[in-house]
Amino acid sequence: MSKVETTHQKGGRPTINKTTAIAVDGPAGAGKSTVARKVAEKLGFLYVDTGAMYRALTLFALRRGVPINNDEALSELIKQVRLDVKPGRILLNGEDVTVPIRSPEVSRHVSLVARLPSVRRYLLKLQRELAANVNVVMEGRDIGTVVLPEADKKFFITASVAERAKRRRQDLLTQGHDISVEKLEKEIAERDLLDSTRDIAPLKPASDAIFIDTTRMTIQEVVDRIVSEVQGNR
Ligand code: C5P
Repeated sequence: MSKVETTHQKGGRPTINKTTAIAVDGPAGAGKSTVARKVAEKLGFLYVDTGAMYRALTLFALRRGVPINNDEALSELIKQVRLDVKPGRILLNGEDVTVPIRSPEVSRHVSLVARLPSVRRYLLKLQRELAANVNVVMEGRDIGTVVLPEADKKFFITASVAERAKRRRQDLLTQGHDISVEKLEKEIAERDLLDSTRDIAPLKPASDAIFIDTTRMTIQEVVDRIVSEVQGNR
């Protein structure tokens, strides 16, 4: 986004700090998280998983028994929430919820919570603040279009629904959840539909995003492609 911030040293001479933002968007299960984390590691940037923030709010609402579809109720709930984003972890009011936010129950409800105006307003502000002072690789659905429209490089990564369901199944198996590919395909298609047809900040590629179909690519190939684009080797 090449934000230029000027700070003043003792003698009054301004120094210029330029931050870089890389936006990675795409549908559920396209491998964004793994890829974005590895790209961030390679570049020495902060990795920000914005889906984790929507998931943490969803977990909180489910635990409190708040109606997931109700903007007013969520708006009240947000007043009691503190989210801390650490590299690879997310804290909800001080509790590390990195693992519970990945549960199938949270996955089933998160797109309903992510539609609500109060939720999007709250997280938009938080996400922009995170990117204000450090170099970031930020990953989500609306990063290139809404959160960081001035990002230096934007990527939209996807894969076929069948491949995404297969990958999601492997991830869930490692967490002890055995869910069939058919069920996951259905859930992923439903989530894609909700995410891409909602009124506010729907999932869609930014007009200046580089589109990568990862169906037949390894994680490493996708990482290398993004890093070389960012470093200007392509
Ligand atoms: O990336 P992940 O699958 O963890 O995201 C969970 C959900 O959070 C998405 O399906 C979407 O509903 C919501 N989300 C969003 N905007 C983002 C990131 C995630 O609406 N920038």
